[in-house]
Amino acid sequence: MAVVLVVNSGSSSFKYQLIEMQGERVLASGLVERIGEGTGRTEHVAGDEEFETRAQIPDHTTGFGLMLDAFAEHGPSLDVHAPVAVGHRVVHGGARFFEATEITDLVEINIDDLAVLAPLHNPGALQGIRAARTAFASIPHVAVFDTAFHQSMPPEAYTYALDRATAERHRIRRYGFHGTSHKFVSEAAAVHLGRPLTELKQIVFHLGNGASVTAIDGGRSVETSMGFTPLEGLVMGSRTGDLDPAILLHLQRRAQLTTDELDSLLNKKSGLIGLAGANDMRDLTARAEAGDDRAQLAIDVYTHRLRAYAGAYLAQLGGADVISFTAGVGENVPHIRESALRGLEFAGIRVDPNRNAAARRGEITRISADDSRVAVLVIPTDEEVEIARQALAVVS
Ligand code: AMP
Repeated sequence: MAVVLVVNSGSSSFKYQLIEMQGERVLASGLVERIGEGTGRTEHVAGDEEFETRAQIPDHTTGFGLMLDAFAEHGPSLDVHAPVAVGHRVVHGGARFFEATEITDLVEINIDDLAVLAPLHNPGALQGIRAARTAFASIPHVAVFDTAFHQSMPPEAYTYALDRATAERHRIRRYGFHGTSHKFVSEAAAVHLGRPLTELKQIVFHLGNGASVTAIDGGRSVETSMGFTPLEGLVMGSRTGDLDPAILLHLQRRAQLTTDELDSLLNKKSGLIGLAGANDMRDLTARAEAGDDRAQLAIDVYTHRLRAYAGAYLAQLGGADVISFTAGVGENVPHIRESALRGLEFAGIRVDPNRNAAARRGEITRISADDSRVAVLVIPTDEEVEIARQALAVVS
């Protein structure tokens, strides 16, 4: 029975899941955090039990040692459930990686080179990869890129109308992110509907703290809302999404904001947090219901943008067969799903209010009315399972 270890590393932490591929069952999961920051912490969940430790964790290699200790002490045994591969989440694969790829020294060099495009993400992933390749030296390691699924976009969708020489010199184009989730959800939608993926026009809304929407034609991403970085597109928990770029010039000239201040403004102090002081849709919903105008405006700005993208992607695809919602907000907030598709009845989209309200966490649910031409689904995403599937596909 094949078992795959999935690792998602950042610069000061990593998460892991050991997945048995038959039935795609999680045998154990855990987290090592505060690496290189005073006292670190580990968490290991096996069966119904959770184990926590605190220790100095100077680097990722020490972290992987602690993870191996946790498996040895609390199980499951890695001798019995020996992984056949390790799948690593890597945020940026640039224009070089269009599919999951077995990691060699050369692949590591490429991931390192792409850190220019993802300075907050690729270096951490690489530290995790290096430590994991030492800890699991005898099995293949596979990099699964958030950008890879979107490499199928046509040039007119990924090209910015920016001076060509400048764009080419600095590799500026739309890359798109959340690809692992968009791929997983679009495949699950096809399976749920019992229709071939290759025949479906799909729109997938991944609405978590980060949020993006993708138009998928026949299983291939043809357009997505995140661009050169994960800042573009939808309104997010703390990110602006689309913005007139001249606002940055104005703030530099008039308010003398520095590059770092602008970065923090756009990525950390904007979006729902910037509009209403909170990024959790539960809080915002409760406040809006209690008559809080700021919370209501934040929700309205958020859903206005969702409708704009729904309309644009319906036009790009020439209609849709299925629209899916996933991630924290997409899976849990009926009023956001309803507002996102409001007014699109003319395009054959009708959400059934009762089904929408009754959608249960963790289950695929059809929320469209029986007479809706377009199926509307809520689909729990599972990026770890998708990474494990792709890793296994590469090594088999
Ligand atoms: P994610 O990035 O997919 O983990 O999504 C995180 C976001 O999902 C949070 O910031 C919340 O806004 C939202 N969220 C998660 N669970 C719920 C829930 N039960 N009700 C409303 N919003 C939720």
